[in-house]
Amino acid sequence: MRVIIVGAPGSGKGTHCKRIVEKYNVAHLSSGDILRHERANNTDLGLKAQSYMDSGGLVPDDLIVAMMAKAVKAAPKAGFVLDGFPRTVTQAQQLDASLEKADRKIDAVISLTCTDDVIMKRLTGRRSCPECGAVYHVTNVPPKKEGICDECGAELVHRPDDTVDVVKNRLDTYRQQTAPVIDYYKSNGEVFEIDGSCEAEETIIEIFKVLDKFAAQAE
Ligand code: AMP
Repeated sequence: MRVIIVGAPGSGKGTHCKRIVEKYNVAHLSSGDILRHERANNTDLGLKAQSYMDSGGLVPDDLIVAMMAKAVKAAPKAGFVLDGFPRTVTQAQQLDASLEKADRKIDAVISLTCTDDVIMKRLTGRRSCPECGAVYHVTNVPPKKEGICDECGAELVHRPDDTVDVVKNRLDTYRQQTAPVIDYYKSNGEVFEIDGSCEAEETIIEIFKVLDKFAAQAE
């Protein structure tokens, strides 16, 4: 099963991807996570990406497409869920072209809708574990001990791009560059729009309803 989950920052892509991975055994390919890993390791790519990420803009397409093509190629037979990629129409076209070469295609695109208000509250209160990737929220999902990851004991961080001004830029970037990706896939009839503003448990039920059909076809 090959799936894309698209939505504004804070719409819940990462949270729902974890559940999708548990249920269908596919690989979670998050472009943001891969970039943060590259940065933490001070790689060439990480250094090139950092200024774009810190300002809420997009890393250039050529760097991202090469990085994600590698990840897609290494994905297991069960498939993958793409999170945060493609984020421009150029990236989508290049992804489709490379899948086509391998005689493959995207099965479904889940588009998560969410209001700016909900997004702002979620992201400015989000705290992330830099070690194991666990995600918390200061009021909605607080860790047992303030500032410390329940899973691995590492100190939680407020991502520098989760501050009010950078979130505003990320939302602008989303509207200008990523929203057209949904139209691009709509023209191929693969988009399933799901409300991402409600409780995570309600949203994931709707996502599973869509993906169960594709999982059944893949058996
Ligand atoms: P995310 O964690 O998905 O919100 O990504 C964090 C940041 O990484 C974004 O604000 C961008 O600067 C960069 N990034 C992630 N994915 C992409 C992509 N597909 N294209 C360009 N930049 C990206």
